[in-house]
Amino acid sequence: MARFHDLTVTDVRKTIRDAVVVTLRPENGAAKAFDFIQGQYLTFRRDFDGEELRRSYSICAGRDDGVLQVGIKRVDGGAFSTWANDELKPGDRLQAMPPMGGFFVELAPERARHYLGFAGGSGITPVLSILKTTLAREPKSSFSLVYANKGVSSIMFREELEDLKNLYLGRLTVIHVLETDAQEIDLFTGLVTAEKCAQLFATGWIDIDNVDTAFICGPEPMMLGIAGALREAGLDDGQIKFELFASAQPGRAKRNAAPKHTASTANQTVFAITLDGATQTITVSKDTSLLDAALENAIDAPFACRAGVCSTCRCRVLEGEVEMKTNHALEDYEVEKGYVLACQSHAITDTVRVDFDQ
Ligand SMILES: Cc1cc2nc3c(=O)[nH]c(=O)nc-3n(C[C@H](O)[C@H](O)[C@H](O)COP(=O)(O)OP(=O)(O)OC[C@H]3O[C@@H](n4cnc5c(N)ncnc54)[C@H](O)[C@@H]3O)c2cc1C
Repeated sequence: MARFHDLTVTDVRKTIRDAVVVTLRPENGAAKAFDFIQGQYLTFRRDFDGEELRRSYSICAGRDDGVLQVGIKRVDGGAFSTWANDELKPGDRLQAMPPMGGFFVELAPERARHYLGFAGGSGITPVLSILKTTLAREPKSSFSLVYANKGVSSIMFREELEDLKNLYLGRLTVIHVLETDAQEIDLFTGLVTAEKCAQLFATGWIDIDNVDTAFICGPEPMMLGIAGALREAGLDDGQIKFELFASAQPGRAKRNAAPKHTASTANQTVFAITLDGATQTITVSKDTSLLDAALENAIDAPFACRAGVCSTCRCRVLEGEVEMKTNHALEDYEVEKGYVLACQSHAITDTVRVDFDQ
């Protein structure tokens, strides 16, 4: 089971005024645990005035870059991102769980596929990892990136993308769409909406008929518009991969202490929870989320966003049934196999057996 490890910050580099690229070195023999798949993220934890915050950041390095790097963009008033941008420096220690997430497809060196990436703002981080790894490991494949930003000065990794275009001449196309800065081609100004996508397809800037897989990461409304346009253009859901960052997760404000659950027997459920090979059985109210039930009973279940956006608390229901309120992270095939997000799941049967180790 994923646990926190120490990592030393070896470099902090500004990529634009409001974003840093942080290079990390796992300590205490943990390097192997931080082998990652392109598109995965790390979940960090840090105390802010006595309150532990957990935040996830996608790895922006490619698998063949030989480094572990994340890109952190400042969110106005955001606790972790502001601290990382203003105070984090080489030599500092951070704590993070090993890489997680399923925002990738398996690569096959002999295949010639065409991938399409859509990124908005800091949503470029996992897409950059994916495109670098894909172009290096699938030499016959090509990648088109549509990258949305407010203006030129807010484009993260602008120079790196230019260098990659030169390195992979003819295999990487990058279209910058800027909300406020006018560009030579009108189509490249404004927001990336469903209509804009349809125009990019219709005018041939993107050869949509030959796209195998599309990756989307950015603000939720933008992602929904793009997904709609891709479906309209004939892609099926299995060809569209999402990674959502922004959520309704609580900010720094302390959450009210969760009440101890002393519900009536009729409303109770028995959870048998397996974690790190050990199974504990607890009785809680059916109103209690699976994650809260575990944490309140000293079961150290993994979690981060608590909002159904990341998949850090993913576990598998082996017996009984739960209802999942929100799911922005798991794909249909995972749900069919019984995977749920513990932070969003409540029991609906009187007994439920779940496993965090699968
Ligand atoms: C799987 C995953 C991967 C992620 N990868 C990255 C990454 O590579 N780079 C990156 O910069 N961020 C990434 N994020 C977002 C990141 O985890 C934090 O949510 C973000 O940095 C804000 O945290 P904070 O502590 O600074 O702000 P908080 O103190 O939590 O929030 C301050 C305010 O900003 C709002 N807010 C929170 N997140 C966002 C957001 N993303 N955009 C706009 N408003 C927001 C909150 O609702 C709150 O009102 C990722 C999130 C997930 C779930």
